[in-house]
Amino acid sequence: MNALTDLIAAEIAATGPMRLDRYMALALGHPTMGYYTTRDPLGAAGDFTTAPEISQMFGEILGLWLAQSWLDAGAPSPFILAEAGPGRGSLMADILRATAKVPWFTPQVWLVETSPSLRAVQRDRLGDVNWADRLDDLPKLPLFIVANEFFDALPVRQFHRGASGWAEVLIGPRLRPGLGQEGANDALSARHNVPPGVIVETCAPAEEFAAQLGTRIRTNGGAALTVDYGDWRGTGDTLQALRQHKMVSPFMEPGEADITAHVQFAPLAAAAGLGGGFTTQGKFLERLGITARAQALAKLGASGVAAAHRRLTHPDEMGNLFKVMALMQPGKTPIGFDENERFSPAI
Ligand code: SAH
Repeated sequence: MNALTDLIAAEIAATGPMRLDRYMALALGHPTMGYYTTRDPLGAAGDFTTAPEISQMFGEILGLWLAQSWLDAGAPSPFILAEAGPGRGSLMADILRATAKVPWFTPQVWLVETSPSLRAVQRDRLGDVNWADRLDDLPKLPLFIVANEFFDALPVRQFHRGASGWAEVLIGPRLRPGLGQEGANDALSARHNVPPGVIVETCAPAEEFAAQLGTRIRTNGGAALTVDYGDWRGTGDTLQALRQHKMVSPFMEPGEADITAHVQFAPLAAAAGLGGGFTTQGKFLERLGITARAQALAKLGASGVAAAHRRLTHPDEMGNLFKVMALMQPGKTPIGFDENERFSPAI
């Protein structure tokens, strides 16, 4: 038991079974006891490791993508280089180093981050950049933005398809998950034509973020690149919790483990209303030259480069599980994507 368990149990006792998105928002983001609010969760000493923490090559390649997208957009200036959910600031540090020599690439740097403890880590790493709680708070300028393992941290709801409708996962006393009453849900049924027994997850905050991105990029120009684990569309229970690099129950000791769900990219693309591309992390990094970069680093004597290259790109490691989605005004195939991986906004 911990204090956040007590607080959640008290809310359930007072107002009834709790939706999963409310539970996840409290476990991760409670202002004093939430997982992200209270700590730096990353790295060997933390609970999980991410691509930018594995190797500088990841950020360098994303930096090249951003600089090329900015050039393709006509090198607008002034402009914003932003990251959503920047963790320790490692990805942004690698992006800034990789793009430092690109002529006229002098962005205003903005980080969209809600966690005060991670903001402090980011300030140590990056110095005086700018912070915002929400995308809407950024200045209205051309926006070039990345997000790695950001959308997977946003709160989801989970629904089970029954014989005649949908039943939502709700959390009851002693933090036991159960199912609410089965009922009709036209929005879910329209999107998911699935037989009884299938589980569907939805993430309204992720769609809202994507919609804001779409409005921004249509109005002011720019491009977005998001990397996360998940798929274009998916079903099933993907909720998971990691503590000290081991899977634990998401309903044990909220606030002490990282809780995530797989990202479904199709609803995000639809909410953004932009064009773009969708592929695997492995293919994307290979096409943008990670192998040549790894060989160059190895020649310079860097250690662990081959292992990092494998971890980021190999299909048995992060290469297939993680996906990359670019969002931008429709028209061209974004670099790093194949013609047949390009999508256009649905009309
Ligand atoms: N991108 C980093 C960190 C991933 S962890 C990396 O790849 O290493 C998720 C990050 O998203 C953390 O920085 C967390 O504080 C932030 N975050 C979670 N929910 C958020 C929200 N609603 N708004 C902004 N940032 C959020």
